[in-house]
Amino acid sequence: MAQTPLLRSSWGAMTALRSRTRLLYRPFSTVIDTPVDPASQQTLQDSPLVSTNVLEDAVQATAPRTNWTREQISSIYNVPLIDLTYAAATVHRRFHNPAAIQMCTLMNIKTGGCSEDCSYCAQSSRYDTGLKATKMVTVESVLEAARIAKENGSSRFCMGAAWRDMRGRKTNLRNVKAMVEGVRALNMEACVTLGMIDAAQAKELKDAGLTAYNHNVDTSREHYPSVITTRTYDERLATIKNVRDAGIRVCSGGILGLGEKPKDHVGLIHTVATLPAHPESFPVNALVPIKGTPLGESETISFDAILRTIATARLVLPTTIIRLAAGRHTMREEKQMMCFMAGANAVFTGEKMLTTACNGWEEDKAMFEKWGLRPMESHETLQGQEDQATEGQAKTETPVELMGGNTAGQLDSARV
Ligand code: SF4
Repeated sequence: MAQTPLLRSSWGAMTALRSRTRLLYRPFSTVIDTPVDPASQQTLQDSPLVSTNVLEDAVQATAPRTNWTREQISSIYNVPLIDLTYAAATVHRRFHNPAAIQMCTLMNIKTGGCSEDCSYCAQSSRYDTGLKATKMVTVESVLEAARIAKENGSSRFCMGAAWRDMRGRKTNLRNVKAMVEGVRALNMEACVTLGMIDAAQAKELKDAGLTAYNHNVDTSREHYPSVITTRTYDERLATIKNVRDAGIRVCSGGILGLGEKPKDHVGLIHTVATLPAHPESFPVNALVPIKGTPLGESETISFDAILRTIATARLVLPTTIIRLAAGRHTMREEKQMMCFMAGANAVFTGEKMLTTACNGWEEDKAMFEKWGLRPMESHETLQGQEDQATEGQAKTETPVELMGGNTAGQLDSARV
């Protein structure tokens, strides 16, 4: 029985995907030589949801682009999942080493008591979640936690504080800067999430050596008001601009399972894909419903929606690190691996992730060992992204296969 070009192709063969778009879809068990009724089948070209050129262009891209339309992203999002993940894996292997996963540890440096009304959050003072608000932790305790994280393989240490913004928080900012300096002195990447910040605060953090600032847009612009009412989507984008303008790398993604529709996943990706430069990091969180919050009884987001979002993000944001964030602990190992194959290449690991459970280092080490993964070194995330953050504009990252060599050879030599 003849094989389709897709089955015959190697991972790097873009021509196979082009050939695939000319094939008629058949039920799994159809003998390939049986005549197919064109009226009952779809081709990628004929599908109202799929533009062949959009997918092909994304698969063949050698650089990120910021002129995506929602329709284009939607057409990619709606490609059959088997083809979508294959296409995403192809792009992933061009721009990243698929065996390298960044391990990050996230510590809450100020818990609870936040004035915002994010409907998913245990730390909002508006909801009775049983969480006790605390004062900011000491610089020493943060650096001790960072040392432990580094010893266990984490190369990035993230610090989160439950604040709306940094207005009037001079002492707090001074302490955060000391934490950032201490983490950087450990030769780790330092990331903070402190709510909204202005241009001057962003510059202070940059001067302290901050690597990245996390500020998620959470969901699409349309769905956002049904999740948060105390600050606007545009205020979020203003903070992201301040971070970018200061030369700090941007970490901005979303949460799936907030009662949104698939088109909101497209909208989320569209928002960050059309910023002047793509975020260097795109976290994908799956809502962990917290009792007492408005979304406390929400249904869990389906795995295929998570996978589809990750694969689409990989195709649309080829150089970005895609971060499998909250909710990973609810996924079996095989599901996590599908996410890694489709383009996710960072995880949060350690004892806890803010207020929710987290996969531990030992568990992750065992999984990495079994599947041939290895922790990413901090310098590996810098290639091509440093300039982008510094210049505050989109810049082409050199894809792996364009760096002057054989992709497979580089991957082999990079593996432990
Ligand atoms: S701003 Fe952050 S800490 Fe405050 S309620 Fe929203 S998600 Fe929670």
